This record gives sequence, structure tokens and C-alpha cells, in this order.
Amino acid sequence: MRASQLLAPTLRETPAEAEVISHQLLLRAGFIRKAAAGVYTYLPLAQRVLHKIMQIVREEMNRAGGQEITMPIIQPAELWLESGRWHVYGDELFRLKDRHGREFALGPTHEEIITDLVRNEVHSYKQLPLLLYQIANKYRDERRPRFGLMRGREFIMKDLYSFDKDEVGMQISYQKMFDAYTRIFTRLGLKFRPVEADAGAIGGSSTHEFMVLADAGEATIVYCDTCTYAANVEKAESRLIAREKQEAQPLEKIATPEQKTIDEVAAFLGIAPEQTIKTLIYHTEKGLVAAVLRGDRQVNEIKLQNLVDTLQLHLASDEEVVEKIGVAPGSIGPVGLKGKVWQVIADPEVVQQNNLVCGANEDGYHLKNVNYDRDYAVDLVADIRMVEAGEHCPRCEEGKLLTAKGIEVGQVFQLGTKYSKALNAVFLDENGKQKEMVMGCYGIGITRTMAAAIEQNHDENGIIWPLAIAPYHVVVIPVSEKDQQQREAAEKIYSQLTQLGIETVIDDRVERAGVKFKDADLIGYPYRLTVGKTLAEGKVELKERRTGNTRVLDVEEAAQVIANLV
Ligand code: ATP
Ligand code: MG
Ligand code: MG
Ligand code: MG
Repeated sequence: MRASQLLAPTLRETPAEAEVISHQLLLRAGFIRKAAAGVYTYLPLAQRVLHKIMQIVREEMNRAGGQEITMPIIQPAELWLESGRWHVYGDELFRLKDRHGREFALGPTHEEIITDLVRNEVHSYKQLPLLLYQIANKYRDERRPRFGLMRGREFIMKDLYSFDKDEVGMQISYQKMFDAYTRIFTRLGLKFRPVEADAGAIGGSSTHEFMVLADAGEATIVYCDTCTYAANVEKAESRLIAREKQEAQPLEKIATPEQKTIDEVAAFLGIAPEQTIKTLIYHTEKGLVAAVLRGDRQVNEIKLQNLVDTLQLHLASDEEVVEKIGVAPGSIGPVGLKGKVWQVIADPEVVQQNNLVCGANEDGYHLKNVNYDRDYAVDLVADIRMVEAGEHCPRCEEGKLLTAKGIEVGQVFQLGTKYSKALNAVFLDENGKQKEMVMGCYGIGITRTMAAAIEQNHDENGIIWPLAIAPYHVVVIPVSEKDQQQREAAEKIYSQLTQLGIETVIDDRVERAGVKFKDADLIGYPYRLTVGKTLAEGKVELKERRTGNTRVLDVEEAAQVIANLV
């Protein structure tokens, strides 16, 4: 490729809107341009990197027995109503109508479509296990699209779905995917950790997130320095920070007789409705779940009803709560599940606040100064506390717990029969008995992985691509465009490298050498070959981007030396 022809518009200045390094460098190095918030065009260099990531992912999916398909991005509302997610997915779902008024969604994920496909086409245990995947655009109307490709509203994901005849089969498929993910991120040249995403809460191993370790990560990981224990602390740390910032008042139980609605309670206590939260406890397959809902009564009761209807939940009675969780009735009731909340479905911005008001699980009483971290202590928060307290690893009981920041680049999930039950995806087993398929789903964010690779691999001068995903392996730079010998030698090496199958750019632009060097560092080519003054002695200089180490090579052998390196 000739730099004079390559559409890689580099920028000297850091664009003001870019907060994180990967976003800054992707813009500055001419990899992406924004079309709308969270929606980007991938320019030629980005396209090459994405292709390489996709190719590695594809190879490992195929190796694990996956079959590639392409599913529609436009998904009919009917399937989402059938699964029950049309109403619970919320504002993240891009919804649209066709000219006849029929409703659709732009796929944020594809459980509905794939389960529909498989229920129609697969009927016997002999066809299982079945592993199907695609690599395609996904659409999520994120509340805050930001950090460039890290949190887009249109992004590329690989998603695989496994169908098995029983739980044991699903575990095997899960392990296959877990291993494939480990190979993928190793091949990509990234430092990563698989972490238990809901550590302790839902049984630990039913879902893992693959985290690329980088300071810009939104997730906090607690991991053991001795064994493989690693867990996602999610936003626990920011909660702790919020707690530190905001003095928590002591919990106070206040009589609120006759005040039935949240608005009435808020008015009675002289607080803003946003400072009220409502907790409910319900049963799901996973056990008791607590939901915290914003004080806005209208909205939340609709959502709550949907939750109850579509997930076929039943609200737990006080007695059940007491029995399952061991909280004394009338003490602080559902609010006071200290250390025992299994899963909190909530607006994270609300639960980060302190000094909220909540029902006291006792008629005519409310609790004032509810403090998220203190009164809704979640297991994950407890993990952070263990680190702070210098406690030992809960698994091996020997290692020291440490924390790191991570970017979620992939997730593997045991779905069980959630979707096969809702959509009636059944098969006949060996005995002719009808059974629900047991499913798993497995995603990798392709575009986010590209951004994460930059977060982990850069310096003050630009990107440092791992060799496996670099857009090109080497850039050849003739120092002086005016010097015919240099130009000719550079051209010769360029064609030799190209013939050897090395992905090469020749910087043939009429630019000062300094500009070319700066762009080479910014774009992050793993190797730079400079053809300059030393050519007179038959020498050229090879520089490695990552280490900055240079080697002087004979001009004749340069191409072969580079070919041996990449
Ligand atoms: P997050 O917690 O960051 O919102 P998620 O858990 O909602 O991500 P999944 O549903 O597990 O995401 O999707 C699988 C993968 O898709 C994620 O691990 C991530 O790599 C990628 N991904 C999810 N949301 C986005 C996004 N908005 N932009 C880019 N990649 C994304
Ligand atoms: Mg998300
Ligand atoms: Mg996540
Ligand atoms: Mg996830």
C-alpha cells in the first residue's frame, strides 16, 4: 500500500470530545470518523484490524465446532413479545415501525431469532449439540454512548448460541467456548482475565466475562495472585467513592401513617421524589431477586408489572424472605438484605446515591437515609472490602486479593432453558420424549476489542499494535523524497516485502521525514524501515515500535530479515 493513496487522515491535535486514549488515538491516527453519537465509519486501517480480529475469532469458533450464519438485524416484535423481552429490554432497544405499522427492533442480541430458527429446523437429539454463530452489527441505544468504539450504539459483535440436549451437554459447550475465548484473546496478543461475572451470587460459574486489563476499564476486577479466582466488582468501586463523597446519615425509621404513594411519602418527609426508592423481592429460577426501582411511581409500576408478567415471577411474601434470607420481619425488611441481595436490577445512577428513602416493610413506616452500599450490601461490594481489609482469596484461602481495571470484551453465559421454554424450542430425546433444548450464548465485541487493544498497547506517541492485529506489519520510509537512490531502494524493498507476503506500506508522500516518523508511531506499525543517508554504505535501519530498539541491516537482506520477524 502506498501512503500517498491510503485514506488515513492523521491529526496532530487531540480532538476535544475524546476522553479515553483509544478514542483519541483512533481519531488521531485516522482509523475512525464519527457519523452520530456512538456510530462510526471504520476507515481502511481500522477495517484491516477488524478483519484480523474477526478472522481469529472465526477460526476459533469453527475449530470449536461452530457453524457461521448471518441473521437479520431487523427483528420482528412478535418474537420479542414471545420471549417476554419486548417490555423489559427498555430504552436500549432501538424500535421501529414499517409502513404498515408493524413493530420491529434493531437486534441488540439474537436469542429470539436463533431460538425461532432452531425450533423450526431442529427436532431430534441426533441434531444436537448445535453451535451457530455470526459476526455482525449490533444496535443498542446506550444511555451514554461514549469512549469511541468502547461503548457505541452500532458495533460489531460475534455471537454464538449453543443448543444441547441436557445440562451436561450445555456445560461441555460452555467449556468449549471458554477455551476458545482463551485462545482468541491469547492469539490477539492481549493481557486478559476471565472473571466470574456474578461472583457468588448466581452460582459463580454460570457466566464469565473476559476482561482486557487496562486502566480505562469501566469494570473493577478482584483477583487472586495465587489461584485463578477472579471476579467482577462491577460498579462497586464507584459506589464506594460515591459513599466517601457523600456523608451517609444513620438509618432512621419514620412513621408515615396514611402516606400511601411514594409522592405522598416524599412530600410528607420533605424530600424529592427522586430520592425515594422502592424494593421488591420476587422469585425467579435463580432464586430470590431484589429489584430497586426509582421513586417515580407511574413509570415503575408499569415496568414492575411487566417484570412480573413476562418473567412469570411471583412476589415473595415476608415469610418467604425471612425463610430464604434470614431477615427478621419488620426490622428493615426487604431493604435490609445486608450482604444477601442476589441481584439488583436498578438504575445505577440512583443506587449510587446515599440518603434515600425506602419503604420499611412495615405498614405506615419508611426508612430514611438508606445508603446503598451500607444497606444494600451486595456480595461484590463485599469483595472490595475484602481487598481493603487485606483478606485472603475466598477460593484458595492462601493468595492475596488484588484489584485491576478491566474492559469487558466478551462474555460466556449459560442460559439454560430460558429461551427454549419461552419460545417452545423442543426436541425428541432417545426415548421419544419431548424436551426443551438447553442453551448458552457467547459474545465478543469485535470493535470494542480493537479499542481495548489500544488501551492496553500505546505510548505517548501513539498506538503499538500487537503483531497479530496490526493493520500492516511494516512501513518503509524513504527519508528524502528528493533523493532518487533512496526512493528506488525503498521501492525495491517494498516490492520484495510484498512478494514475501509481508503487509507493507511505503510512505511515498511528499512530506518531511519527521512527519512520516510521527505518523508511523501514531498509526502503530510494529516495524519501521528507514532508508536514509546510510544507504550510501548499503545500510538501512529497522526500528521496532514496541521497544524502540533499532537494528542496522544490509539493504540486500532487509526484506528477508523482516519476513523472519513477522
Ligand atoms: P457492557 O456491560 O459493557 O454494557 P454488556 O454486558 O451489555 O456490555 P453483552 O451483552 O455481554 O454486553 O455483549 C457481548 C459483548 O459485546 C460485550 O462483552 C462487549 O465486548 C460488546 N459490547 C456490548 N455493548 C457494547 C457497546 N455498546 N459497544 C461496543 N461493544 C459492546
Ligand atoms: Mg450493556
Ligand atoms: Mg456487561
Ligand atoms: Mg456482558
